[in-house]
Amino acid sequence: MLARRLTDLRTSIQDQGLDALIVTHQPNLRYLLNHVGTAGVAVVTANDVEFLVDSRYLEAVRARQASPQACPGLRIRLVPGSYDDALVECLGALGGGAVGFESRHVSVATYDAWRNRLGPAAVRLRPTERMVEAARAVKDDFEVSCLRRAAAGLTAVADAAFAALRPGVSEREVAGVIESSLRDGGYERPAFDVIVASGPNAALPHHRADTRRVEAGDLVVLDFGGVLDGYCSDLTRTVSVGPPSEDARRVHNAVLQAQRAAIAAVKPGVETSAVDRAARAVLESQGLGEAFRHGTGHGLGLEVHEEPRVARASAGDAVPSLLRVGMVVTIEPGAYLPGWGGVRIEDDLVVTVDGADVLTAVSYDLQPRSAGQQSRSAWI
Ligand code: ZN
Ligand code: ZN
Repeated sequence: MLARRLTDLRTSIQDQGLDALIVTHQPNLRYLLNHVGTAGVAVVTANDVEFLVDSRYLEAVRARQASPQACPGLRIRLVPGSYDDALVECLGALGGGAVGFESRHVSVATYDAWRNRLGPAAVRLRPTERMVEAARAVKDDFEVSCLRRAAAGLTAVADAAFAALRPGVSEREVAGVIESSLRDGGYERPAFDVIVASGPNAALPHHRADTRRVEAGDLVVLDFGGVLDGYCSDLTRTVSVGPPSEDARRVHNAVLQAQRAAIAAVKPGVETSAVDRAARAVLESQGLGEAFRHGTGHGLGLEVHEEPRVARASAGDAVPSLLRVGMVVTIEPGAYLPGWGGVRIEDDLVVTVDGADVLTAVSYDLQPRSAGQQSRSAWI
């Protein structure tokens, strides 16, 4: 598995006229080397992987290299002090050539530090973009099975969240229920800060969870996900606490139809902007075009937001972003009406040869059966 990933990367290193690539972005190191950590730098050359790592990770790296998860051709270089010094020494040993670095993940200060230490050395640093990320966008079978399990486990978490929603409970209490349910479900951590946005807060797509107490008749946007074996899941449902108003039904139904239209548009070879347009067209036809103020979805994998973006094409796009078999994306249209509230519905899906396979399986009901079961009588 890692051998194929490294072979593909070496092909793009060669295609770009480079002799080596410095990899510093940690999710890319996990993808290429199985390295799980917050530090480490790899220099991938035509034949080797020089892996610079400090003493905190040394034992774990050595143990993995003695296991079936070993990275082929990996040479461990212990970093005694500064990573920058160790990297420059490693680059010096290459003897020259063009060496790419991940420009989106290297600060100007770090780049300057490398340049100053390299001095007039024969190595030429070249900025690169998305060399590993582009490969990561298409998942292999192992990754799809991880993402499938990460998504499937959210059903039980959603049930726990629905059961916790009742008048008087605070958003943070519901977020706490979601977090502990994620842990109970075997997730290593939440994939991002849990969102519980009730009543008027639901009009704010980036609201987290605060001290507001849920009231009867509120719409509540619940957006959460967990990381399982390194892979992220991401789900949103909007539910009504007590019987929904006519407006709530209408907006919820419009967002649901938009989400279905976008999912129906997912196929290999389709531009991601066409999927976004499919969702947007439904909301526009319902007079909610202005209320949908973000992209329709994003790629999902070792990071919760990765390639491809499922959004309007932007002027900076060099080539159209096309869906390919094995891409895993979210589809999450929403409608936000300031002062009133909002609705968002999100699922995770994998692109298949003839369309999409939805990985998340949670009721779309505005009043899911388990929502506030214990206190239903209080609403009547
Ligand atoms: Zn989400
Ligand atoms: Zn999302």
